[in-house]
Amino acid sequence: MSIYDRFAVRTIINAKGPSTRLSGGFLAPDVAAAMTEAATYCVEMTELHAGASKVIAEVTGAEAGIVTSGAAAGLLMGTAACVAGLDPGKMSRLPDARGMKNEVIMVRSQRNFYDHAVRTTGAHIVEVGLPDRYAGAGVRDAEAWEIQQAITANTAAVVHVAGGAAQPALADVVRVAHEAGVPVLVDAAGQLPPVSNLRRFISEGADLVAFSGGKAIGGPQGSGILAGKRDLIMSALLQHLDLDIYWEQWAPPKALIDKDRLAGAPQHGIGRPCKVGKETIIGLLVALQNFASESGEARTRRFAAIIQRLHAGLEGVDHARIQVTGGAVPKLELHLTANAPLTAMQLCIELERGSPSVHADPSRVCNGIVSFSPWCLKEGDEQHIAARVKPLLRY
Ligand SMILES: *Cc1c(COP(=O)(O)O)cnc(C)c1O
Repeated sequence: MSIYDRFAVRTIINAKGPSTRLSGGFLAPDVAAAMTEAATYCVEMTELHAGASKVIAEVTGAEAGIVTSGAAAGLLMGTAACVAGLDPGKMSRLPDARGMKNEVIMVRSQRNFYDHAVRTTGAHIVEVGLPDRYAGAGVRDAEAWEIQQAITANTAAVVHVAGGAAQPALADVVRVAHEAGVPVLVDAAGQLPPVSNLRRFISEGADLVAFSGGKAIGGPQGSGILAGKRDLIMSALLQHLDLDIYWEQWAPPKALIDKDRLAGAPQHGIGRPCKVGKETIIGLLVALQNFASESGEARTRRFAAIIQRLHAGLEGVDHARIQVTGGAVPKLELHLTANAPLTAMQLCIELERGSPSVHADPSRVCNGIVSFSPWCLKEGDEQHIAARVKPLLRY
């Protein structure tokens, strides 16, 4: 029995990994306990944000940081910071970005569903480059000079989506952007682990970096981090905070918000709907400290043990070859044979619809592969998965 039974909701076995659609991952007991405790007190939110900023700065090497309601919220508020700066009038006018720096440059092959968050600010995206290598027509993609040529007096930022295949390299993006005085905002939502990536993009010169808190970090599902330059974080936070307060009464910690530099207090900003509660902030901070302190080897060993148990359970499965992939997060893949009773897509769907409901990773079903991630598996889930898969692949 779980609390979900009270509301007639099934719990699932999540072998896809921490995706938002599947409610992220699950919290470690100490993170859940910290959130429960945090929820029983009241605090001044700006003071809590200042405490969070210190932890985020320590862990990322950035000047400052805020807890957001997700990486997408970080992209929204990071972009808003680049567009409005420290001008409360501009902050209050967004998403009407007329008369402001309202262009954001992105490499065409990096465009993705989450860049809606960038456009939500009112800025529009200027695409550069032709992804020739993805078209199967050639080997090239966008190059730094193309970003350089796209920069105008209206450029608010360059948004770079980090990833193994991202081109041009972040260092080159930073070089041409900074030559023109333009900040670089990195979407690093899915770039953890390794833990070293918490610092990597800042050390490569990014002005702002957004991480997801509900993915690898193991924080609350609706959490994330935006880390970066102090002024940009100040602007992002100003556009997020609830500002229902008299100017003379308002005393935010100066390290985070320097009132002396503001013409006045902005109204509730474009980031105000991305509200983050105190429990979420505390939960994210505890999860972040845990994540940063577990060694990569220890994490990989923990995951490898889960995959080993799943492998043992699936031994003897019909019409599929089992393959375990290596790397920091090992996975188990079922390569279905041509005569299997189900296609890979059908197997995923059957696993989801039966009981207990098992969600595998369908991203390679076109190649006849169903894969299983250890990220969100609990002790015992391996046996349930094997018991569901085996009969489905038998004639
Ligand atoms: C998951 C993801 C996001 C969104 O992260 P949330 O924390 O769910 O808001 C943004 N960008 C990329 C590349 C992602 O993988």
